[in-house]
Amino acid sequence: MLEKQMILIREGKIRQIGRDIPYSPEDKLIDMPDAWILPGLMDCHVHLTVGFPYKKMSIEQMYTTESTALRALRGAYNAQVMLTNGFTTIKEIGNDGNYASADVIKAIRKGWIQGPTIFYAGKIISPYGGQTATNIEHEHLWDDEYLDANSPDEIRKAVRKNIYYGANVIKLAADSYAYHYSLQEVQAAVNEARSAGLKVTAHVMGGEAADNIILGGAAAVEHGVYLTDEQLRLMKSKGTFLVGTDLAVSNSLTYGVDTATALKYYHLNIDRLKRAYRIGTPMAFGSDIIIDIPGKNRAQSILEILQTWKDAQIPNSYTLQCMTIYAAQLLGVEKERGVIEPGFFADMIAVQQNPLDSIETLKRVSFVMKEGKVVRQD
Ligand SMILES: [Zn+2]
Repeated sequence: MLEKQMILIREGKIRQIGRDIPYSPEDKLIDMPDAWILPGLMDCHVHLTVGFPYKKMSIEQMYTTESTALRALRGAYNAQVMLTNGFTTIKEIGNDGNYASADVIKAIRKGWIQGPTIFYAGKIISPYGGQTATNIEHEHLWDDEYLDANSPDEIRKAVRKNIYYGANVIKLAADSYAYHYSLQEVQAAVNEARSAGLKVTAHVMGGEAADNIILGGAAAVEHGVYLTDEQLRLMKSKGTFLVGTDLAVSNSLTYGVDTATALKYYHLNIDRLKRAYRIGTPMAFGSDIIIDIPGKNRAQSILEILQTWKDAQIPNSYTLQCMTIYAAQLLGVEKERGVIEPGFFADMIAVQQNPLDSIETLKRVSFVMKEGKVVRQD
């Protein structure tokens, strides 16, 4: 923490930082004498267009009752909510109807709406059936959300299709149902994505599927609830990130599960977070919120997860790094975003307390700047 600093911003980027920087009379001066300034927050596991009613999660019902247009509008709304609450960069990880988030991203780029910088996975690539449970009469109900890919060749085609429709990160669902991806299939995804300059990330809980994801060269494991110490060590040696999506009890209860079930997953998350931190597995913050807590918006629901990190006794400084500099590393933008340094994009937030003392202060950002433009100033 540096005190009494000036940050000079030109053309969306930080140019100079110091105690006394010369500036011109035309420059706009924003004085925040009592604030702590931080890099904008990052969330590496977001479903912008998903919003189930409280305690009523039914993926199949969502597919049949909500149009892709409605999903895009929800995505646009949540993108603005996330940005104005301090998230300047996110990874949108799929489950967005027929590429609804691709249009949200276009609307942000056109300046129609405000939103974070979005990394986008397109449709989730998965073995037959995606993450759904339908009957044979509705065999292809999942096609709006998943790309069936059941061999290295089909995976390569699915990667290309997603890139065509706007994806700049590739997501596999590696172990959702009866089948999981083999090492060769993961390698096919990783090689195809790499040839387009992209990374692969995977929904995987643990077991052999997680081995294949890690050994196959994916950039991250999403969830990873059942990862063993051995797998966490392997991830450390391979540089594989854990995006833990460590829901707090208040988040799990939104699914309609009972308190015992919510607590069970909470303790699994805490245990795995603690082990990953102790072992030194690279970590980036990811939320996976698909149902908002009543009375809280998407960003506020996401920040409930800070409780899990606190209860896992992760130091606040490390949690902040997982929400900024380490997330930027996973997303491949560590030379552009995630720190406040000359040459970096001016993505910054302000809070009213020292976040190293109280991480909860992130729930009440008073100022948000995205690429040099003020999007919030309370
Ligand atoms: Zn998810």
